[in-house]
Amino acid sequence: MTTTRPAQKPLRSLDEALAQLLGYATELHGVEQVSTFDADGRVLAQDLVSALQVPPQDNSSMDGYAVRGADLADSSQSLPVSQRIAAGSSGEALASMSVARIFTGAPIPQGADAVVMQEDCDVQPDGSVRVQIVPQLGQWIRRAGEDVTRGAVVLTKGERLTPASLGLAASIGASQLAVVRRPKVALFSTGDELVMPGEVPPEHMKPGAIYNSNRFFLKALLVRLGCEVSDLGIVPDQRAATIDALRGAAEHHDLILTSGGVSVGEEDHIKPAVQSLGHLDLWQIAIKPGKPFAYGQIAQGAASASASGPACAPLAGGDSAAGAHFIGLPGNPVSSFVTFLLLVRPFLLKLQGVLDVAPNSVTVRADFTWSRADKRREFLRVRRNVAGGLELFTNQSSGVLTSVVWGDGLVDNPPGCTIAPGDVVRFIPFSELLA
Ligand code: AMP
Ligand code: MG
Repeated sequence: MTTTRPAQKPLRSLDEALAQLLGYATELHGVEQVSTFDADGRVLAQDLVSALQVPPQDNSSMDGYAVRGADLADSSQSLPVSQRIAAGSSGEALASMSVARIFTGAPIPQGADAVVMQEDCDVQPDGSVRVQIVPQLGQWIRRAGEDVTRGAVVLTKGERLTPASLGLAASIGASQLAVVRRPKVALFSTGDELVMPGEVPPEHMKPGAIYNSNRFFLKALLVRLGCEVSDLGIVPDQRAATIDALRGAAEHHDLILTSGGVSVGEEDHIKPAVQSLGHLDLWQIAIKPGKPFAYGQIAQGAASASASGPACAPLAGGDSAAGAHFIGLPGNPVSSFVTFLLLVRPFLLKLQGVLDVAPNSVTVRADFTWSRADKRREFLRVRRNVAGGLELFTNQSSGVLTSVVWGDGLVDNPPGCTIAPGDVVRFIPFSELLA
């Protein structure tokens, strides 16, 4: 008797998987007005246009004296101080053959064409001022509108707001900002071996039991990406309960994210449960760590069916009324972490309307040897050293979470490539991926 093994699905490239995944991520409906104070990390829902110029008028960038250059032809002459202009007040036109005492941020009086810093002036016993160095035209003057012109788009729709952008928004008088609503994400872990820290002390852990670590970093990563997270714990290991949990979560969430149970051939309840409520694609992605990955959709109000539902398509307008996205990450902690950063992060950013979801990478010198070329594209955990090169964490196993804590980024190593000291490699800092 001959047995035929089921044909292995070909591996798909990361770029292909990402493009397909992003095709499903249509922008969420729903705009919120939030205080500019609370908008850090949120995504702007419409262009922010300035109704005024910044600075509003020419002003001094130094404490000193506002002068008319033509009055300083005779460098030995002292000029009287005709007025004093502090920040927040506005002066009068500068009387000829006089100077104005002026402070940083104060408006330049009409007729003045330069500021001389006080360190370059001698104040005479009678209070008049002699300028030691004749200033250049416009010296120490910050020009009106040099930061923002009236009508300029200062921040664009789809931009993720940073502390600096909040300051810029405030500088044009915006106390509230229109942002895309937060994605609602339900988080589940799968695996009978999992125990929650705090439930069982280390000395009483049964053989085979491990603590649920993925739940902690996945929740933190989701929060950093602006999501409203429902942490729904460990999915019960029964088909009916799993279906109920997923169906319930699909009613109120944009995305259901699970970890574990997506390896090929694994006996688990997530796969058939998602398939019975909608559609599930299991992908084998040509990356290391993190080969298995699942994307699916659960229709809202889905009744459990024996046959798989319709194939995946972009959910209408990213509206939760159309159903929920489903993403299943591999269970190995490093695989889970890395696939989240490479695939789930851009997916969640695109749901929020971010236009540019690719992390920036840089080329850096490798100060290590990597002699095991792999057929898959690898993401090696590395750390920058003081010499400006990269060091490799010794154990690159997908279960060794210490590598991610030790490292400060990933080397994106193409398939089939070894690395020798001195080679230039592509480095993606975690600062690009965790922000
Ligand atoms: P799986 O993808 O379910 O086959 O799991 C692969 C490996 O990851 C197994 O060794 C699991 O015990 C481990 N694993 C799965 N889920 C978690 C989790 N939430 N926390 C820590 N390890 C996990
Ligand atoms: Mg498992």
